[in-house]
Amino acid sequence: MKNFLKKTHFIILDTLFPISCINCKKEGSWLCDKCQNNIHINEEHLCPICEKMITPDGRTCLSCKRKSFLDGLLVAASYSQFQISKAVHLFKYRFVDDLHIPLGNLFVNVLRKTELPLPNIITPVPLHKRRLRWRGFNQSALLAKHLADNLLPQNKIPFDENILIRNRYTSPQMKIKDHISRKQNIAGAFSLSPDAEIKNKTVLLVDDIATTGSTLFECAKILKEAGASEVFAIVIARQETKS
Ligand SMILES: [Zn+2]
Ligand SMILES: [Zn+2]
Repeated sequence: MKNFLKKTHFIILDTLFPISCINCKKEGSWLCDKCQNNIHINEEHLCPICEKMITPDGRTCLSCKRKSFLDGLLVAASYSQFQISKAVHLFKYRFVDDLHIPLGNLFVNVLRKTELPLPNIITPVPLHKRRLRWRGFNQSALLAKHLADNLLPQNKIPFDENILIRNRYTSPQMKIKDHISRKQNIAGAFSLSPDAEIKNKTVLLVDDIATTGSTLFECAKILKEAGASEVFAIVIARQETKS
């Protein structure tokens, strides 16, 4: 009930006040073209596991390769940029689903600059169905679909939001401070859909924000065990935990 009221409250506010750019307040869109173009895209990328080695396109470094199923992670931008933190907050916690367009475009721009293999399939990190019902949309699925539709000028990349299933209702990772508890919270939380066809495919996994990366590592493990040849991931930003 509390959540319902919260949601209704935001909807009423949106109706009373016209949409304006979250950065410069220009009316007409959530993020105007100018402020969108001003977002600084990460040029250098780190190994997602050790977060120390700068690697081409955020590939997992050689020494981490042995202990990871994830082949690389692209972090599009820095969370410390106001447009990013504000847009993510509104998108994720205030249900402004239209923000998937500028944020999805950010993914398109970042990915086009890399030499990563073209994915055979793009899939989001799934939400548990209880949370999906509450939120009304899977924010990562909106981003993934936008990316799949717009990465190539002519063709669409296959998009499938039902490859992974979230079995358990886990506490939001953001609420858990330490690394080990996050890993335990997420272990076994996902499984593969019975009709997923990913054998020998390059899969691109999409999520909004990564913190420790535990969620992406766990999803990559399932995909690899099911025969995916390579698994890369892309997120808007990586958020530090203050523990
Ligand atoms: Zn603006
Ligand atoms: Zn590494």
